[in-house]
Amino acid sequence: MTYEPVIGLEVHAELQTKSKMFCKCQVVDSTAGEPNRFVCPVCIGMPGMLPVINKSAVEFGIMAALVLNCTVAPINVFARKNYFYPDLPKGYQISQYEMPLAVNGYLTVDSLGGQRRIGIRRIHLEEDTGKLFHGKTGDSSPSSSLVDFNRSGVPLLEIVSEPDMRSIAEVESYAKSLRKILRYLDVNSGDMEKGVIRFEANVSVREYGSDKLNTRTEIKNLNSFKALVGGVEHELRRQSNIYASGGTVEQETLGWNDNRGETVSQRTKEHVHDYRYFPDPDLPQLQIESEWVEEIRTRIPEMPDVKHVRFSNMGLTDYDANILTAERTVSDYFDRVIEAGAGTDPPLTAKTIANWITSQLFGLMNAIGIDIEAVQVKPEQLAELISMVESGKINSLSGKRVLKKMVETGESPTVIVDADGLHQVSDKLQIVQAIEEILDQNPLQVAQYVGGKETVSNWLFGQVMRKMSGKASSHIVKDELDAALVDLQSKSGT
Ligand code: ADP
Ligand code: MG
Ligand code: ZN
Repeated sequence: MTYEPVIGLEVHAELQTKSKMFCKCQVVDSTAGEPNRFVCPVCIGMPGMLPVINKSAVEFGIMAALVLNCTVAPINVFARKNYFYPDLPKGYQISQYEMPLAVNGYLTVDSLGGQRRIGIRRIHLEEDTGKLFHGKTGDSSPSSSLVDFNRSGVPLLEIVSEPDMRSIAEVESYAKSLRKILRYLDVNSGDMEKGVIRFEANVSVREYGSDKLNTRTEIKNLNSFKALVGGVEHELRRQSNIYASGGTVEQETLGWNDNRGETVSQRTKEHVHDYRYFPDPDLPQLQIESEWVEEIRTRIPEMPDVKHVRFSNMGLTDYDANILTAERTVSDYFDRVIEAGAGTDPPLTAKTIANWITSQLFGLMNAIGIDIEAVQVKPEQLAELISMVESGKINSLSGKRVLKKMVETGESPTVIVDADGLHQVSDKLQIVQAIEEILDQNPLQVAQYVGGKETVSNWLFGQVMRKMSGKASSHIVKDELDAALVDLQSKSGT
């Protein structure tokens, strides 16, 4: 790119509170079925209704604000943002304008050659709108539109960044870390396909080295990482082309067409909305005492970046630490195996446990399409299994087979090992006998080995393991087989 990208994001995240932002209606997701069931006079904007602020929503917002290094404002004011749209029955949305929940934070993102801080300008609370369906739902004619108010009044947290992002990679990293943080805090489910996180990207480009902000456009309806990246990429290219050919970029609002992969103009500067914000007379000023903020701070769980450092210090590779911190449920599982594995004999290392989880357990989970919450293997049972392998009770091949059965049945490893007779054979005499038999039965391969084709030993190893039904200690088989082959070689006089 010959021009420097300048990007700021506005992110809307639904808060997973039990009830809506200003009424007692239950918060349900878009799969709840039955439209317009979770509604009341407040969230469908009946005249005379009175909103009441949901304390949990404020707490969720404060928690996110603290993790995003923001200053929480002591006084919040809810304001009416006035506009007409069929999904907004009151004719205004309750939001925050001049006195938002929190300001002045940052989020650290991965960037080319290191990490960068992206400023967070403000975080505010508002209510979601209803949802329109254009000729898709119900049995009415395809030219009709329907509206579902189940989503109307669901708490939303809007997180507005500074125009600090300088590449698509930074945009992607910012959006993904934000989602991860909200999920870790349990304030948002992260289910992008249900629309619980939505992005708006503000995009401009400028000459490298310049520090002035050029005219920007705003892309709405970016509801997946793919759409976000696609939309920003498209817009950067479009604006660069305009400047390259001597033109000027118009400030406008664009929609993203996911199917066609392009932005579509929705309104230009001349039609920028005047929302006529004013403080909502139905709601009191919200005073947030610092004691309350500090109490909420104590409830913040260990965040992924801190966890990543802790896991790295336990000897994990960057790669493993990334995988194991991607989801809080996964990292909790890993921590519990570590805890159980500390008490086994020998104690299990974090690296060994990480290997079993990322390469074996995840593989089995993927094969049957379940995630960690649905895995029947208890962390203590996994530690027990790994310990059986590490202490030589079973060999690693059997270990993998046992794990598969554990995933399928939820049985404990001891029960499976006993039932299947998988106890490892470490009896040297028995192993040496098996080796002798295999060598006797395969004179051709032995001759090849003696003749210098040393890779044949792998094949012979396999034969011995098979003869012992896969239960022999692979170390002993390998040592004894090597010894026997070296012996043969020296006897043959070459
Ligand atoms: P509005 O409230 O009208 O949407 P703001 O000035 O509050 O406008 O900015 C909204 C978003 O646009 C913020 O995320 C901000 O970082 C971003 N932004 C502002 N100016 C630019 C620009 N020139 N280029 C890219 N992003 C910008
Ligand atoms: Mg905006
Ligand atoms: Zn309601």
